Amino acid sequence: MLWYQADVEEIITRLDTSKKGLSANQAQARLEQYGTNEIREGKKDTPFQILLRQFSDFMIIILLIAAIISGFLGEIIDAIAIITIVIVNAIIGFVQEYRAEKAMQALKQMAVANAKVLRDGKLQNIASVELVPGDIVLLDTGDIVPADLRLIEANQLKIEEASLTGESVPSEKNIAALQQENIPLGDRINLAFKGTNVTYGKAKGIVVATGMNTELGRIAEMLGEDRLKTPLQKRLTQLGKRLAAIVLCICLVVFLFGWLRGEEPVLMLLTSISLAVAAIPEALPSLISIALAIGAKRMVQQNALVRKLPAVETLGSVTYICSDKTGTLTENKMTVEEIYAGKIVVKKEELHPQEFTEQENLLFKSVALNNDVKVSKSGQLIGDPTEMALYEIARLNGFDADRTENETPRIAEIPFDSDRKCMTTLHKKDNRVWVITKGAVDILLKKLGNTSEIEKQQFLHISEKMAADGLRVLGFAHKEINDIPSDLIAEEVETDLSFIGFVGMIDPPREEAKKAVGECKTAGIIPLMITGDHPLTAKNIAKRLGIIDDDNDAIATGADLANIDFNRYKDIVQQVRVYARVSPEQKLTIVKALQDNQQFVAMTGDGVNDAPSLKRADIGVAMGITGTDVSKEAADLILLDDNFATIVKAVKSGRRIYDNIRKFIKYIMTSNSGEIWTIFLAPFLGLPVPLLPIHILWINLVTDGLPGLALAAEPADKRIMLRPPRHPNESVFAHGLGIHVLWVGLLMGIVTLVTQALFIHTNNWQTIVFTVLCFSQMSHVIAIRSETESFFSQGFLSNKPLMGAVLLTFVLQLCIIYIPFFNSVFKTTPLTATELIISIALSLVIFFAVEIEKIVKRKRMLGDNNSVFY
Ligand code: ADP
Ligand code: MG
Repeated sequence: MLWYQADVEEIITRLDTSKKGLSANQAQARLEQYGTNEIREGKKDTPFQILLRQFSDFMIIILLIAAIISGFLGEIIDAIAIITIVIVNAIIGFVQEYRAEKAMQALKQMAVANAKVLRDGKLQNIASVELVPGDIVLLDTGDIVPADLRLIEANQLKIEEASLTGESVPSEKNIAALQQENIPLGDRINLAFKGTNVTYGKAKGIVVATGMNTELGRIAEMLGEDRLKTPLQKRLTQLGKRLAAIVLCICLVVFLFGWLRGEEPVLMLLTSISLAVAAIPEALPSLISIALAIGAKRMVQQNALVRKLPAVETLGSVTYICSDKTGTLTENKMTVEEIYAGKIVVKKEELHPQEFTEQENLLFKSVALNNDVKVSKSGQLIGDPTEMALYEIARLNGFDADRTENETPRIAEIPFDSDRKCMTTLHKKDNRVWVITKGAVDILLKKLGNTSEIEKQQFLHISEKMAADGLRVLGFAHKEINDIPSDLIAEEVETDLSFIGFVGMIDPPREEAKKAVGECKTAGIIPLMITGDHPLTAKNIAKRLGIIDDDNDAIATGADLANIDFNRYKDIVQQVRVYARVSPEQKLTIVKALQDNQQFVAMTGDGVNDAPSLKRADIGVAMGITGTDVSKEAADLILLDDNFATIVKAVKSGRRIYDNIRKFIKYIMTSNSGEIWTIFLAPFLGLPVPLLPIHILWINLVTDGLPGLALAAEPADKRIMLRPPRHPNESVFAHGLGIHVLWVGLLMGIVTLVTQALFIHTNNWQTIVFTVLCFSQMSHVIAIRSETESFFSQGFLSNKPLMGAVLLTFVLQLCIIYIPFFNSVFKTTPLTATELIISIALSLVIFFAVEIEKIVKRKRMLGDNNSVFY
C-alpha cells in the first residue's frame, strides 16, 4: 500500500511512531538505519579529478609531448626539469582549487536548513539532515518541506511544487486518504514533498521518506548543478581565446625567426611552446573563482553568507539597496509603548490591570488570543517579534496566553499574510464562535461593520498620531458568529467586525544602520526603505536613519503605485526613497523599474512572497535569522545577523575583492606581456634568444604565481567607499589597465634587452637577463598594490603575505643562481656581487616607472572631482 492511500492511524502504526513524535533514542537508531536526510549531489569532482584537470590544458599537453621528444633527442636534464616544473605547477593549481572547493563546501554547510520537529513530545529545532522516518514535522508558511511527509494536520496548507511537477500554481493540501492507484505526484494532495515550498498555511506531517528515498532524491541525478560563471569570468574566457590566438601567432614568428637565424630547431620549438604556455592566461577564469571563493569565506566572518559565487564579484556594482524596514534597518526588538482602548492613549507605564475598563480587558484578551508565539522547551519565546511584543504586554497585564486560550480554545485561524496585512483567529466561546482579527489599521477599518464614517475617521486620526511618533500600530476587532464557516475565506470571515482598540509598538532604528546609510551615500549607492508598515511610521524611522533628509523627499504608498503604468513607474522610482504599505508584487515592479533605468539593485526580503523579487534583483538578500527557507533559497546573499549594515560591508568586501582581482589580472598580463616583448624583440635587435624554456617556465610558475595570489590579501583602498559603483558591463581593461599591460610590459622588455646588450660579452649574460626579468616582476607587483596610492604611503608591511611572497621569490632566485645543482638544471652561472646589484638596480626601473604612473593618476584625480578614483 502506498503512503497516500493509508489513513493517518495506519501510517503511525506502520512507522512505529506516535502523534507526539519519536523519542530521542528511536531517532538516533533510525538515523543509523536510514542514513542522513541528504540529497547526494550528482557528479562531484574527486580530488584526483581536480588534479588531473590541471594537466588538461591543451598547451600544457603539447609542452609535455615536446619535452619528452627532446628528452629522446638527448636533452634529458632539460626534459626532466620541464616536466618537474609542469608537475609542481599542477600541484600548486590543485592545492588552490581544492582549497576553494573546500571553502565553497563550508559555505554550503552554513546554509543548511532547520526543521521543526516533535521529539519526546516536545517541539525542537533540528538540522533537516537529521530527520528520520516517523518524525513528526511542523510546517509553516515560507518553509521548504524538509522530507517527504504524509500530512496529519493541514490548515489552509498550500504548497508550490514546481520543482517536482513543473506546476507553479500552489496545490492545496489536505489529510484524507486517497483511494485510487497510480495517482500522479501533483495530485497526491495528502503528501508534502521534500524541497517544495509552503506558500500558505501550516501543517503537521509524518516523515515517510528521507534523503535519496524522497521524490526529490529520485530525480536528483537529473538536477546536476550548473557552475555559475561570473560576468568577469565570461569576459575573460572570451578574451583568453583571442589572446591565445595572438600569442600562438607570436610564438610561431619567434620559432621561424629563431630557426632562420640558425638556432637549433628543437630548442626553438621548446622555447616557443614554453612561451605560449607562459603567456596564454588560460588559468585566469579558474584563478578568479578561487579568489572569489576565498573572499566569500572571509565575508562570512562579517555575517554575509554568499550563496551564489558571482555575487561576490557583482556586489561592487550595486547602485540601489532596497531594504526592508523591520529588523534590517531597525533592531526588530518590538516593545509595546502605547495602547488605545476607549478614549485616550495610555502610556505603557500607566497601565493598571486592576482598573481596566471592559474594553481594555477585551483588548488584552484579544492580544493574548490572536497570537502565534510558541514557547520553547527552555522557556524562550519563538515567533515574529511583533507577536512576541504583544504576547509580553498581555502577560505583563495578567493575560497569560495559555490560560486565556484554555477558556476560549482556538478552533480555526486564517494565518497572517503580508498581502492581506491581517490575521484572524476563531475561538469557541460557549456555543458560539468568537472571531478576532488584528492587522494594519487602514485595512482593519475597512472591515468594520456598523461603524460610522465619522467614527472611522476618528480612529484613523488616533492611529496616525501614534504612527507619526514612529510606532507600529496594529488594530484589533472582533465579532461573534453562530458556526464556523465551512470555507475559511478571509474576505468573508473578516467582515462586519466591531472595533476593540490599537496597540502601538516601538522598534528602534539600528545605530549601525545609520552609519551604513551614510556610507552608502558617499559610495554612490542610494538606500531605499520598502516596508509593509504605515507611511508615517516608515517616514519617522527613515528620517532618523538619514534615508530621507527632509520632508520633501518622496514617499510612495502601495495605493499611490496601484494602477499606474510601467513608464510612470520608471519616473517615480527615481524620486522615491521610502515605500510604505507596498505588497510583494509591487516590490517586484520596483526592482524591474529600477533595472529598466540601468540601475543595479540589491533587494532584501524575508517572506515567501518576496522570492520573486529576490530572484529578479541583481543581488537578492535574505535574512538569516527571520527569513523563510524559501526566501533564502532564492537569495544570492544571506545576512546572518539580519542587519542592513552587513549589506554595506558586503558591498565593500565585493569592491575590495574585485579591485584585487583586477590587480591580479594586471600583474599576470603585464608579466606575460613583458616575457613576450623580450623574446619577440630580441632578434630584431640582433640578439640571440634571451631565455631558455626552463627560465620562461620558472618565471611563469614561481614569479607570477606566488606574489600574484598574495595580491588577494591587499587591504581595501582607503577611498573604496568614496567612489561610485563600477558599471557592471565595464571592460576588464578599463581605467588604463590595457595600456598599462602594454607599456609596462614593453618597458620590461626594453630593460631586459638593454641588460642583454650590455652583458652579452660576459659569460653570465643569460643568468643576468633571467634575473633582471624575474626581479622586474617583483618590483612591478609591489608598485601595483594600489591603483593610485604610492607604495611609500601604503607602507612596507600593510600586505605581509605579499612582502613574504616577494622575499621568498627573491631567495629562490638566489638559490638558482648560487647553488651548483640548480646551476646545472637551470643552466645558470653564479653572478658576481656587482652583477647582482646591477640586476636589482635595473629591475627597480619598473617600480619607479609605475610609481610615476600613479603620480600622474593622482594629479588627474585632483583636477577632476568626478573622477572614478582609480
Ligand atoms: P513589515 O514587517 O515590513 O511592516 P509585513 O508585510 O510583515 O511588513 O507586514 C505588513 C503589515 O501587516 C504591518 O505593517 C502590520 O500592520 C501588519 N502585521 C504585521 N505582522 C502582523 C501580525 N503578526 N498580525 C497581524 N498583522 C500584522
Ligand atoms: Mg513583517
